[in-house]
Amino acid sequence: YAGKKSTAAFTESMLNLKVKDFQSVPVVVSEEMTIYEAIIHMFSEDVGTLFVVDKNEMLQGVLSRKDLLRSSIGTQDLNKMPVHIIMTRMPNIAYCLKSDSLVNTAKVLIEREIDSVPVVEETEQGLIITGRLTKTSITRAFISLAETHDL
Ligand code: ADP
Repeated sequence: YAGKKSTAAFTESMLNLKVKDFQSVPVVVSEEMTIYEAIIHMFSEDVGTLFVVDKNEMLQGVLSRKDLLRSSIGTQDLNKMPVHIIMTRMPNIAYCLKSDSLVNTAKVLIEREIDSVPVVEETEQGLIITGRLTKTSITRAFISLAETHDL
């Protein structure tokens, strides 16, 4: 019986995990940045995904490592080409809110086969990026559950 109770408590804790408790700092670039600059930026900021915003700071796109690699093996001039040419763009961006459940957001990452989603605030002007939720965030949540439960 004690074992079952522990399992129920674990399940409840898991379902109560929220994006806002595990999100990290987003790295954002302008849609006019060149692909070359974006590659440098991805290395210097040590992230796997860059979020692309317009002049009003609204979410317009996503750049992954493979987006940048793919464009580097093409024939384009990386120093002239802006990132908006190659990014995945709105309205095809998967995102989440800071109040969303972590489990649902983890499902989105798996179903869409992506590494991260921006955490946003929805406004009439568009989506304002306030954070980043990655597979690493989910892994940290997994460890925190293990640490707070006797399994
Ligand atoms: P990688 O391409 O480096 O393996 P991802 O798996 O995250 O990294 O990205 C796969 C593709 O999905 C890329 O083309 C990327 O632009 C796109 N992508 C990444 N994150 C999102 C997202 N939140 N919403 C929509 N598309 C995304």
